[in-house]
Amino acid sequence: MSHFSIKCRKCGKVLENAYCAFCEHCKDALLITQYADRQFAADRGEGIWRFNWLPVRRPGFSQAGPVVYLSTGLAGRLGIEELYISFSGYWPEKGALLKTCTFKEFEAAMVIQNAVENQMEGLVVASAGNTARAFAHLAKVSGFRAVIVVPSMCLPEMWYLEERAVPTIAISDGDYSDSIATAKRIALASGMPFEGGVKNIAKRDGLGVVLLEAADVMKKLPRHYFQAVGSGAGAIAVWEMAERLLADGRFGSSLPVLHLAQNLPFAPMAKAYWKKSREISPADISFGLVGETTTRVLTNRYPAYGVLGGVFDALEATGGAMYGVANEEVYAAMELFKNAEGIDIVPAAGVAVAALIQAAKYKNIGKDGPVLLNITGGGEAVLRSERPVYRVSPSIVSKDIPEKQIEDLLCETLKKN
Ligand SMILES: [Zn+2]
Repeated sequence: MSHFSIKCRKCGKVLENAYCAFCEHCKDALLITQYADRQFAADRGEGIWRFNWLPVRRPGFSQAGPVVYLSTGLAGRLGIEELYISFSGYWPEKGALLKTCTFKEFEAAMVIQNAVENQMEGLVVASAGNTARAFAHLAKVSGFRAVIVVPSMCLPEMWYLEERAVPTIAISDGDYSDSIATAKRIALASGMPFEGGVKNIAKRDGLGVVLLEAADVMKKLPRHYFQAVGSGAGAIAVWEMAERLLADGRFGSSLPVLHLAQNLPFAPMAKAYWKKSREISPADISFGLVGETTTRVLTNRYPAYGVLGGVFDALEATGGAMYGVANEEVYAAMELFKNAEGIDIVPAAGVAVAALIQAAKYKNIGKDGPVLLNITGGGEAVLRSERPVYRVSPSIVSKDIPEKQIEDLLCETLKKN
């Protein structure tokens, strides 16, 4: 018997050893991993592989985790008594060794290892930037096949750790959501499955490593948790891991309050939740808003928000709140963090810091326990001072590429790499 099974949040159906499982009865619900161990353990190996609540058995490559530490700099500036920072990026003097500078490495590592153990030979991955870099790097490290699909509009900010890392296709006339749709079509044509997005339990449990590391360091659950959200997968993952830690019994008696942030004007989840609505308004995901937003990696037009077990439910279950952050606030927050903590962070992490600044200012957080701030990416400036990184040179196609041309595109793209 496996050390985990997968359960439908809605009807309770349980599946064993299923890859990218879906419930045949409920299309509008997420599945969740159930681990046989009720008690959390962190003694199973190195890096992120030392945790027992992961949907993998025998990891074939090493993977560093986040670094969680008690802040003095930012905590002092904001007047927060107990502020823990989870830093996922490159900051060697702090022990943070993620060379792709993003927490998406945990997701990519878990998805690839889980796919390998389910006899998958490759995956098609859609990304707005960070996920692409993480998958490209880990596909190289693990020898796994991946084809990556990104929107062209994200290319100026994109970089890979390796030259010609993996076959990459850019969509010239669409955004992240169009990349997902095209990735699904390429998956059908290539015979390699689509990685599954937020529905892939391995993706969420990989991102949930942030809370496992924090629980291991803090020996308790945070009272408040801050993160920027795009698809919502990371926030859902933290809620799911918090439920497991609560059931363990040794980490406290209440779920962390989720404080989730988006970059205005593209903030569809924030705008929906301010109205306490489970539905995202079509006006709030219009294409024009994407261009006005500084953090493109957060501009997912179809996030896992209203789906059962998604962001709306996570906010309701934890008494959470959504924040909207203007571009100027993002830049100011990045600057403040760098001065206070001594390391550069990516704009998405700046969105989370800006939300924490708002919360401190408007007293959304009291003195009732530790705060955990998820810095989802950083240290790019440090990394670039030490080694070269590479621009992404993809094959460029329209989102309306005809079916019969997809095969030619794949041949051409594979040849380049
Ligand atoms: Zn179901």
